[in-house]
Amino acid sequence: MVSSDVVIVGGGIVGMTTAYYLARAGVRTVVIERDAIGSHASGFAYGGLNPLSGFGIPGPHAEIAQAGMRLHRELSESVVEETGIEIEFRVRSSLALALSEADARRLQAALPWQQEQPGYTARWLEAAEARRVEPRISDDTRGAVSIEGTADVEPYRLVLALTRASERLGARLQHGRVTGLRRDGGRVTAVLLERSSVECSSVVLAIGPWSSETSAWLDVPIDVHPLKGQILRLKAPGPSVPCSVGWGHNYATTKPDGLLWAGTTEEHAGFDEETTAAARDEIGAALVKMLPAMADAQIVHQTACLRPVASDGLLVLGRVPGIEGAYVATGGARKGILFGPAMGRAIADLILGDTPKISLEAFAPGASRRRSGDEQDARDLGR
Ligand SMILES: Cc1cc2nc3c(=O)[nH]c(=O)nc-3n(C[C@H](O)[C@H](O)[C@H](O)COP(=O)(O)OP(=O)(O)OC[C@H]3O[C@@H](n4cnc5c(N)ncnc54)[C@H](O)[C@@H]3O)c2cc1C
Repeated sequence: MVSSDVVIVGGGIVGMTTAYYLARAGVRTVVIERDAIGSHASGFAYGGLNPLSGFGIPGPHAEIAQAGMRLHRELSESVVEETGIEIEFRVRSSLALALSEADARRLQAALPWQQEQPGYTARWLEAAEARRVEPRISDDTRGAVSIEGTADVEPYRLVLALTRASERLGARLQHGRVTGLRRDGGRVTAVLLERSSVECSSVVLAIGPWSSETSAWLDVPIDVHPLKGQILRLKAPGPSVPCSVGWGHNYATTKPDGLLWAGTTEEHAGFDEETTAAARDEIGAALVKMLPAMADAQIVHQTACLRPVASDGLLVLGRVPGIEGAYVATGGARKGILFGPAMGRAIADLILGDTPKISLEAFAPGASRRRSGDEQDARDLGR
């Protein structure tokens, strides 16, 4: 049997940022991952960092979105210095297209709040102005919201850099599948694997879309399901697309690898992570609707991965009620890369006995959360 102060289950962005912040505070951690680090959504996401839109923004996710962005900016210096791994963090504006009057009304309704947020410049652009940003946008464009101050990052490189930095500070990685917890007198004492266990005083469960498995380990409902999404990487004609062009839940930009990344789908397909021809066609059609000149782009690669989504669409983040030393961190949905560092920071603060800088009240794990089947399930996760 191995022992550690804190065991983190899951080597995605949430698990690895938690490990990083704990390692920086001198806490001994073991990260247990059953596949490879960053081998699911955290390694294949688009990496867009836009804290001014999405489910719960404005609303319960607004504060953590801003906190996530601040931490991404810090990480873009600290982990790169510590590891030499270039994580491709780029400040990059967003251009959300209105291709119908309904799109224009929806985008304009969100604009006043976006314009109040410090650090960003959000503006309505008439079609001709939007075309000056990216001349290839559709002739159907009625206008667009431009946000300056948004960014993107290469999520896989970020997770690798966090891993290397954490290991240098003493964190250990262990390969294995966690199957449960051992408890004694209301507190966690060990994490159980298929053929072994790791003793610990705290455990952080950061297993993304698989989090509902932990309901049985904790005797607390953790109502999280997978929402599949796919991305195309294309060799595109003409110059790079200089910003993230969006339309509804679709987006496209040229990434540092020189390819045009275009997404995405929202598919209820269980835990299936295979790419499909139907998704290829759907993403391709949306791409051509936004940027018709991309009809000639050639697909180089197609990826699929699973977002962790709670039934009420909100994060599940905090202490598990009734079990001392147990924490859950999941539910990042379409914004898990953006939220990830703030989720890891908040859990590290709780373990260190510090007060998290953001309110976690709305995200508390437990029976009071809305369950699947309730009337207002989170269906539209926005961008
Ligand atoms: C197509 C697509 C595009 C996206 N684009 C963006 C974007 O532009 N911006 C943004 O902010 N977010 C984006 N996201 C969302 C983001 O990728 C996810 O919300 C985020 O990666 C979830 O991170 P996680 O650490 O919670 O989960 P994961 O990355 O899924 O990591 C969980 C890990 O836990 C491991 N695990 C599971 N069960 C066990 C077990 N029993 N024992 C041990 N290990 C276990 C898994 O193997 C996995 O590695 C996108 C998602 C998709 C699908």
